[in-house]
Amino acid sequence: MGEFDLIRRYFQRPAGVGVEVGVGDDCAVLAPTPGARWLVSSDMLVEGRHFLSTVDPARLGHKALAVNLSDLAACGATPRGFTLALALPRVDDAWLAGLSRGLFALADAHACPLVGGDTTQGPLNLCITVFGEALAGQALLRSGARVGDDIWVSGRLGDARLALEVFRGAVALAGDGFTQVRAAMECPTPRVALGQALRGIATAVIDVSDGLLGDLGHILAASGVGARIDVDALPRSAVLAAQAAGLQRVCVLAGGDDYELVFTAPPQARLPDVGVPLTRIGCIEAEPGLRVVDAHGAAVDHGLRSFDHFAS
Ligand code: ADP
Ligand code: MG
Repeated sequence: MGEFDLIRRYFQRPAGVGVEVGVGDDCAVLAPTPGARWLVSSDMLVEGRHFLSTVDPARLGHKALAVNLSDLAACGATPRGFTLALALPRVDDAWLAGLSRGLFALADAHACPLVGGDTTQGPLNLCITVFGEALAGQALLRSGARVGDDIWVSGRLGDARLALEVFRGAVALAGDGFTQVRAAMECPTPRVALGQALRGIATAVIDVSDGLLGDLGHILAASGVGARIDVDALPRSAVLAAQAAGLQRVCVLAGGDDYELVFTAPPQARLPDVGVPLTRIGCIEAEPGLRVVDAHGAAVDHGLRSFDHFAS
């Protein structure tokens, strides 16, 4: 099968709403909604770095788009479309069919069509660029947190990191527990509806991709504020809660790949109910820095840092 047959077979589908030209020409042509701004983000998944070669291709397709939709969610954007740049070592039909199934299932769930891309031979690597929209002035940014705001997190933290520790051989988990945390790692749910519902309510938002400490740190830096969070209040699954206390802290504070939203809002804000649990984990303070305390208010000396590809 040649490059163009491959694209036609696995990645070309009828253009979606608002897509005037999709896959097949030199550029896609998208019609913006009047008064809206484009919100654009790219995320790359590299074999051996972001995923294992043994991962189910449908889950890989899901995750490649999910991590991108998560960035749109963090900005409160409505997904409009995406491109896929794909490097493949060889053509494996069963693998490509699985990848495209997982990718399009999530794309369809968010009415976010694939509008173009690039396909080349090379080490396995997927790079997606998503295009979303928000009305002018309505995008949620990292820079709006104010002293006195509460800090909230959606869903649960740390399961993806726990799964990674199992793959590394550092932790053993019984069947069901492993199935659950593995799904968190391989099949994250982007909080797109929550992000949109937070427009006009949250003062700052970020998605947790590299670990809470670092990602919340980005909000603090961009907003010029500090914060205090209660490590014991951080929401975690029953599987994680059954692990040693030290491991739990590593997973909830520094575990990456959660794709939950962390946001700040004034105490009087009415938070939206989109069916995702929200947990208050701390508050914004004037004093710079991030203070981690336990349920008794005692300082926690965690010695942890978030994930950084080039940390020395
Ligand atoms: P060009 O050489 O003009 O950049 P290509 O030959 O790379 O175009 O691609 C042909 C068409 O197929 C383009 O519309 C491109 O956007 C689309 N395309 C290529 N790879 C993919 C892919 N992996 N997923 C979706 N569309 C793709
Ligand atoms: Mg061209």
